[in-house]
Amino acid sequence: MSDLPLHPDTVAVHAGRSDFGALGVHAAPIDLSSTNPLPDILHGGDSYESMATGGHPLPDGGNVYARLWNPTVARFEEALAELEHAEASVAFGSGMAAMTAAILSHTTAVGKHHIVAVRPLYGGTDHLLDSGLLGVEVTFCDEDAVAAGIRPDTGLIVLETPANPTLDLVDIAAVVAQADGVPVVVDNTFATPLLQNPLDLGAAMSLHSATKYIGGHGDVIAGVIACSEQTAQALRRVRAITGALLHPLGAYLLHRGLATLPVRLQAQQANARTLVERLHGNPAIAEIRYPELDDVRGLVGRQMRGGGAMISIRLAGGYAAAEALTGAVRLFTHAVSLGGVDSLIQHPAALTHRPVAPEARPGADIVRLSIGLENVDDLLADLEQALVKAGSVVPVG
Ligand SMILES: *Cc1c(COP(=O)(O)O)cnc(C)c1O
Repeated sequence: MSDLPLHPDTVAVHAGRSDFGALGVHAAPIDLSSTNPLPDILHGGDSYESMATGGHPLPDGGNVYARLWNPTVARFEEALAELEHAEASVAFGSGMAAMTAAILSHTTAVGKHHIVAVRPLYGGTDHLLDSGLLGVEVTFCDEDAVAAGIRPDTGLIVLETPANPTLDLVDIAAVVAQADGVPVVVDNTFATPLLQNPLDLGAAMSLHSATKYIGGHGDVIAGVIACSEQTAQALRRVRAITGALLHPLGAYLLHRGLATLPVRLQAQQANARTLVERLHGNPAIAEIRYPELDDVRGLVGRQMRGGGAMISIRLAGGYAAAEALTGAVRLFTHAVSLGGVDSLIQHPAALTHRPVAPEARPGADIVRLSIGLENVDDLLADLEQALVKAGSVVPVG
């Protein structure tokens, strides 16, 4: 895009637009064609084969079929890769489709059948790994036990930082050092490419549920993985064969969302920091979890450029208080998902992390807050009035 190194907020606005000049457009075209006409049977076949094995379309063969290649999706991928300091990125129809492709491409596709996964993880990821659905054995462990979990047939190491919903931080470089060459995929959804770039720390893949901060407006389900071009080929092959593609309308919205991601995140993070500060000492709260608190290893600053905009709260009154709190908020919406412009609250043990094995499930006293762009005084007032109700319940058990 430019010979000078540009700041991430500039990249977020300008990346993925390299063909606009030739097209004579200022906004990204949305290419909805499911198929692409070919002049005769001599054309298209080689291109088809290239894309079905994870490569790019060939210049004289065209895109052939939209399950294999879509220009609107490719522009978003180019932009996301640049923000993640990666050679490439591959977009999928959801974060879970992305995780499934990361697993298949590094295990069964290459004759490996074992994964090491650092808990805690997003409930859906934990469920996918624990279900046995993909024919892969999984060793769950904490971050210090990764080396001990690796076997000759280990194809992938999975971790998430900050983790959903506890906001535990995992030292990415320390896990990579234990990995003995096994590729590491980092779920970077909570941090976004603006606050953390796992590839710079030695990870092979940075995965996002783009449904969350990247889309940012609660109207797209999508996933994306930033990685090397070689890894992207393996992922595109799985995407082409299994059909886990992202629709171009979604890709358009994500590409548009990238431009405002830096300012949204800055403002949401500022709100979160203020709330963490002002809720300190609230009698209904047993503990506030936020990446900048109790960061004894100094990971914020070293691997993350800020704490982000997710907060978890442990309530002194346990489950009954969580029920009262989620029922009493007016501005916060009680809903799963996160990272959008409006603030959400949810109870992980009852909702997002319900499929997780009991020993790894978050406590019933935890609620998770996704902080949006509302005025922080309004958010604080809403939480304070709801916490009064949560504080007055009699703890059970
Ligand atoms: C939501 C989420 C996912 C799953 O993404 P979908 O887009 O819902 O499939 C994966 N990881 C994390 C951390 C998430 O929050």
